[in-house]
Amino acid sequence: MTPAPHAGAAAAVDENGWLLAATRLPSPNFEARPGAIEPTLIVVHNISLPPDDFGGSAIRDFFQNRLDHDAHPYFDQLRGMRVSAHFVIRRDGEVEQYVACNERAWHAGVSSFLGRERCNDFSIGIELEGSDRSPFETAQYDALAELVRVLAARYPIDALAGHSDIAPGRKTDPGPHFDWPRLVRASGLAPHFFPFQSRA
Ligand SMILES: [Zn+2]
Repeated sequence: MTPAPHAGAAAAVDENGWLLAATRLPSPNFEARPGAIEPTLIVVHNISLPPDDFGGSAIRDFFQNRLDHDAHPYFDQLRGMRVSAHFVIRRDGEVEQYVACNERAWHAGVSSFLGRERCNDFSIGIELEGSDRSPFETAQYDALAELVRVLAARYPIDALAGHSDIAPGRKTDPGPHFDWPRLVRASGLAPHFFPFQSRA
């Protein structure tokens, strides 16, 4: 049977949209959601800086606009970029939060969800520390499944998508190693939450 979001899950998020259990690392890279609309979409990403280099503080520094761009050749191309997801799930399953869910974080860029553009307006962005070239950790799936359950209980979420689903041709994350059926099973959310996954 499919478990319902557990009672009290919504209480795990405060009135501004900060997850009580997350490590709070505020980013300035957000603004108010237009019309104060509530998020209805969760976007799953991957990130590692430099790519495939896990651990360290570069993601945190990048999302907080204090990355040392001279520290690695790859970082040069990130100069001037102001971005942040709402959440980052580290390799060990630790959940970091950069932007309150009630705010519009700058994670998806030019994007369209089933014809509706500007996905940042109405989505919550979750980055898994990882890359398109390596599998994700069990601890990350566990943390992600719990996080999406909590968010679906707190907000009128009706769909989850990968960044590549809403920015095809421009973005490839969360990549070929991201196991969507595993997330479907672990989250307990009904199949209609996953419009880009085969129902076969
Ligand atoms: Zn992405």
